[in-house]
Amino acid sequence: MRTVYLNGDYLPETEAKVSIFDRGFLMADGVYEVTSVLDGKLIDFAGHAVRLERSLSELDMRSPISMDDLLEVHRELVRLNEIEEGMVYLQITRGAPNDRDFAYPPAETEPTIVLFTQNKPGLANSPAALKGMKVISIPDARWGRRDIKTVQLLYPSMGKMMAKAAGCDDAWMVEDGAVTEGTSNNAYIVKGNTIITRQLSNDILHGITRAAVLRFAKEAQMKVEERAFTIAEAQEADEAFITSASTFVMPVVEIDGTALGDGTPGPVAARLREIYLEESRKTAV
Ligand code: PMP
Repeated sequence: MRTVYLNGDYLPETEAKVSIFDRGFLMADGVYEVTSVLDGKLIDFAGHAVRLERSLSELDMRSPISMDDLLEVHRELVRLNEIEEGMVYLQITRGAPNDRDFAYPPAETEPTIVLFTQNKPGLANSPAALKGMKVISIPDARWGRRDIKTVQLLYPSMGKMMAKAAGCDDAWMVEDGAVTEGTSNNAYIVKGNTIITRQLSNDILHGITRAAVLRFAKEAQMKVEERAFTIAEAQEADEAFITSASTFVMPVVEIDGTALGDGTPGPVAARLREIYLEESRKTAV
């Protein structure tokens, strides 16, 4: 049984209980982060901590823990649960006042903090990376502050189910004719030596993996264009891929039934995955 962390305590997962009045449960009034673990170490923890603080501050939510202590809790859970490859999930909500109300509860209300590990042996050597993913496009029906990493994930869940129903792996969301991002990842296309991905704004989550991959791409002399692209442009690209903390770099081989190139993962995505894994293992903590 997993050991999880709840409000200062390490507990068996079946003993960790949250109030029915918790704002995360009633209103999706909470933020989260997912940090991957390779070789028993945390990948890009500092990036996730910075984004967490920004998400909290955009929602006028206070953190119940310092970022230094948060790192220690991550490490302790990885140790207690003997995670070599997997993820640590972290969620902070505005806490549990003693009733339901749209207005935020008094500032002294204690936030709720939960962390748990997910054991995923073989995460880095995923067979999906060799096969590539098939995606469909769907309208982006999410709210307008996608830069805040909230637990309001119903539409992304619906998108994954739409993809499954179509025999595909994920959905790319489209707004005003252009791709925003995948349901739980950032989206890219490749043309020649150029990597194209949507520019940062409130329309997408500012992926921690995205920042690292673009940095590595530039270091490897690839060209990076941060701009919007359409599904039609993507279908004519040489390659496509996604990034996220839990999938790293994952090739996309088909979009709305159109195969990219010869329908197999391309060399740029494969190379970026390799560089990302290699470089991020070096700075893991
Ligand atoms: N966009 C969305 C909508 C996501 O949910 C995620 C992953 N949580 C990402 C992008 C990728 O972000 P990261 O690389 O920080 O995991």
